[in-house]
Parts: sequence; structure tokens; C-alpha cells
Amino acid sequence: MQAANVDAQELAKFSEQAHRWWDLESEFRPLHEINPLRLDWIDEIASLRGKTVLDVGCGGGILSESMARRGAAQVSGIDLATKPLGVARLHALEAGVTNLEYREIAAEALAAERPASYDVVTCMEMLEHVPEPGAIVQACSRLVRPGGWVFFSTLNRNPKAFALAIVGAEYLLRMLPRGTHEYARFIRPSELARWAREQGLVVQASRGIEYNPLTQRYRLSGDTSVNYLVACRRPG
Ligand code: SAH
Repeated sequence: MQAANVDAQELAKFSEQAHRWWDLESEFRPLHEINPLRLDWIDEIASLRGKTVLDVGCGGGILSESMARRGAAQVSGIDLATKPLGVARLHALEAGVTNLEYREIAAEALAAERPASYDVVTCMEMLEHVPEPGAIVQACSRLVRPGGWVFFSTLNRNPKAFALAIVGAEYLLRMLPRGTHEYARFIRPSELARWAREQGLVVQASRGIEYNPLTQRYRLSGDTSVNYLVACRRPG
């Protein structure tokens, strides 16, 4: 049952692209550009220094490695795509970041193995790639310790998000390869909030990630209509 919450085609796609993960001119450029924004937001809310952190769906490790560098005591990144994990390990090794480990394991399986173990759990740009995102939210809620923080980010589902995240990013601006995202899998903030609440998490804050195609810059704002971040807390 646990291994079923996976779209094999999605994993294959990320594995195929893995060698370009740290290439700033590749399709991963947007993740590199939004990373300082999300890292600062997470650090402001959960204060990473000395914390034990889990990054679910870590891919090539852009966020994981940055949280380790920001002063987390230990960061664990998990994913089910093999090649991105290999790239993440190699990058950490070359960068000399040692408070960081990567594992190929499902969030649901890790939740059974190490419940209530992490001060901070992050799950960024991943929920929209899995068949049952609610089950990932549940696993994240089990993995975080009471009083700890869980952060999600994903794409909203509405005509504007379709126009910007798919037509704009994949077809007009060609920032992402066609087929990167599937509209039906986008998640409304109200849906994410409901899954979180059902798992005993309390939504504390949210921010939109806005892209300005003229300046080619991202910023956090109150506009959650396209890409957005949510911070939840497990009551202590
Ligand atoms: N979170 C990273 C990478 C986002 S790309 C970041 O924001 O920088 C999406 C990642 O989710 C890919 O690495 C993909 O392999 C992973 N993924 C997709 N389905 C998954 C699943 N069921 N379990 C774990 N990881 C998954």
C-alpha cells in the first residue's frame, strides 16, 4: 500500500533530468531562484539553527543542502527517484557539507520507522507529483515532533495558475519542459489546509511565490493564486 503512492513516470522524468539539477541554466533554474526566498521564510518561522530537519521529496537537494548550511544540526533528505539522490549526495560531498544525509525511502515508510522524530519537516514542490498527496501530508504530520513545524509548497488549481504555471512557464517562456506539471494535480490552499487539519496540524501562515516575467524575479507576497507556501505546526 505504501509504495503505491508513487507515479513511476514522474520519478523516471526526474531521474532523466537529474544530471542538470545544479545547472542554473536548466529547467531547475526556478527552484534555484526561489530557494533563498523559501529558505529565509522557513528559517524565520522555525529557526533552523540546531534543528533536526527532514526534507521530503528532496530531489537533487537544493533546499536540503541550503538548510544544512543555514545551521540545522542534521538534515535528512528523502526521495524515491534514485538519480536525483545520487546527484544530491555528490553535491554535498563536493561542497563539504557533512550534516546532511540522503535516503531512498517513502515518507509513509519513514513515518512508521521514525515517528515524531523531526523538529522541522519540509515538503516542497512535490505534492503535485504524487497520486495521493493527502497521504504525504499525513506522513509529514507523523514525522514531526509535537511542537514542530511542517512546511509545504505546491501549485494552486484555478484558471490563473493554469495560464501561468503551464501555458506561461512550459509553452510561452519555456522555463520548464512541457509536461512538467499536470493541472489536475494542482492543489487549492483550502484542500491542503483541510488535509493538514485532518492530521492534527494547525496552519499558521502562508505566502505566495510570485514571478514577474519582466524583471524575471521572484518574490514572496500575499498572492497565493499560483505557487504558494504553507507553514503548519503540530501542537506541542
Ligand atoms: N523538493 C525539491 C524537489 C522538487 S521536484 C525542491 O523543491 O527543490 C519534485 C521531487 O519529488 C522529485 O525529486 C521527485 O522525484 C520527488 N517525488 C515525486 N514523487 C515522489 C514520491 N512519491 N515520494 C518521494 N518523492 C517523490
